[in-house]
Formats: sequence, structure tokens, C-alpha cells
Amino acid sequence: MVQRFVHSRVANEAVADDIVQETLVRMLVAVERVEPGILEPYAIVTARNLVASMWREQERHRRNQHRIVDLRGPDSPDESLLEQEDRGAVAEALGRLSERDRRTLVAHEVSGQDTQSLAEELGVTAGAVAAQLNRSRARLRVEYLLALEPGGSVTDRCRPVLFAMSSGDRRRQREVDAARHLLECALCEKLSQPLLARGQRSDDQVRIRIHADADIVLARQSAREVAARLEFPRTDLTVIATAVSEIARNIVRFTEGGEVVVELLEEPRRGVRIVARDTGPGIPDVEAALVDGYSTYHGLGLGLPGARRLMDEFAVVSEVGRGTTVTMTKWRQEG
Ligand SMILES: [Zn+2]
Repeated sequence: MVQRFVHSRVANEAVADDIVQETLVRMLVAVERVEPGILEPYAIVTARNLVASMWREQERHRRNQHRIVDLRGPDSPDESLLEQEDRGAVAEALGRLSERDRRTLVAHEVSGQDTQSLAEELGVTAGAVAAQLNRSRARLRVEYLLALEPGGSVTDRCRPVLFAMSSGDRRRQREVDAARHLLECALCEKLSQPLLARGQRSDDQVRIRIHADADIVLARQSAREVAARLEFPRTDLTVIATAVSEIARNIVRFTEGGEVVVELLEEPRRGVRIVARDTGPGIPDVEAALVDGYSTYHGLGLGLPGARRLMDEFAVVSEVGRGTTVTMTKWRQEG
């Protein structure tokens, strides 16, 4: 369906394939957070969005996405403008929370007060505080994105829909008929992208479970996105993405499953670290497996030496019968 839709609108085969793949990746990220009835309209609005705005607009969204959690200092005059816009949006979004939600969120996120002591203060359970914090964060994300869209025409239906999307609450999405609203409202169509594409992303770390081929694409994509935050050169982004897909492919082909964790490093050096773990059969002779042409482990040797060449640091720890952990790092060349 997505393929037909995109290819009927984009002449360039390669670009069309990119858009189809990007759409599918987003569907995969969103699939656990939306009710099944939304998937089809969401696929169509996603593809339509990508076709309409191609990459420029997407870059901006990606930026907004990480600006929600990333408030590091500005690097350039351009950054500084964005930073100002960002602070304003955060302030405006905070102002839209209830007094109680705002105070709790700030006490927790800014002052570092833990949920237990907040619970005692508020006379509720720690679980209730955690739930309140989650709701407040979901609301803050919505208000933040709305504040960055000053021209957008917000109707009474937009906030309930966006909030249900932001909190990943499927029942609520059904109740407010989010599927239908997404197709009718240009603003929500646009904002649903950064809200849902967040996936399991936390601040500076992304964890992707690896079970099927589709997970390889997701791991590859996530590694590229995380590395892009450090403004790695384009060629390095491709190198990192390729190394990650080699490692993830091994997990899919030779083990029951595993995970890939992509992590940003800031101190003392900037870089990206990827840790891939599986619970597979393990590698009897790691030294041999790192030599080109080694293939007794069903061709694993083709992927490992390749990934090692692409990265700056590379380590394999493996135990036969228990599994393998590959840790690899790419450093950002400074200056
Ligand atoms: Zn709307």
C-alpha cells in the first residue's frame, strides 16, 4: 500500500525507495504505541508528509525531537537563535501545565527530587507520582511542539488527539478517534511525526531489540540519528550505520535474538558507542572470527572483520553456549 502510494507520486526510484523505507521504519517505531486502526491512516499521512516536504522539513522535526531533551549550549549564531526559540517554547509549554503538574515536574527534572519524597509531600504513592510525571511529560511534549508552530490552527479536538498520541495511550486514541482526526487535520498530521517517532529513545541512548530483518533497518536508522546529533560528517554516519547493520544482521541470522544499544559519549571525547548483545551459540575462537574469510560460524566472519575495520575501537567477548557481546566505538574527529 505504502509502496504504491509513494511510487505513484515520486518519479525517482531511489528517492521513492528511501521514502518507503523511512515510512516503514516509522511504522515499526509507532506500532506498539498506537491502536491498530490508526496504522493505515498513519502510514498514509507519514508517506504523504515525507513526499510533500522531503527532507528539509524532516530535518527540522528531527531537530525539535531531540531539542525536547537536549538543552546543551549553542555552537553557532544559528544554534543560538534556535536555542532562544527553544527556551521560549519550553517556557510557554510549562506555562500550560497545571500548577501541580508543573511544580512536580520541575522538582523532579530540574531539582532532582526523587519520586518517593515527592510522594510523601503530596500524600500519594510513589507510583501515582510516576504516573503523574509521565502524563506531564506527554503533555509538555505536545505543548512544546504546539508552541513551535505559532501559525498552526489548533482546534478543540487537536490537544486531546495529540495528548493521546504523545502518551501512547491506545484506548484514549480510540476514544478521541485519533485515526480520523489525523487524516483531517494538517497540524496534527505534522506533529504526530515527532511525537510518535520518539520511540523508545531516551536522552542519549537508544536501545533496539533485534529479532527480525526489520530490526536491522531500525538499528541502522537509530545509530545514524544518534550520531547525527554530534554532527559527525556524512561519510562517518554511513560508516557507523553500516557497521551497526553488519552486527545486527549477525544477531538475526545466527541467534535467537538480542539487542543493540547506541550511546552518545561526551566526556572526555565525543563519539558513539554501540553495544550489541545476543544470547546465541557464542563464538569458539574470537581471534579467528576477526580474520577475513573466517566462515566456520556460518559466515559470521564476513561481518565482524568488516565492522571492525569501519570503527575506531572494537571488542568481542563471547562465551560458547551463552552468547556474544560486541562493543564498538567511533570517535568524532575534532577540529
Ligand atoms: Zn488537529
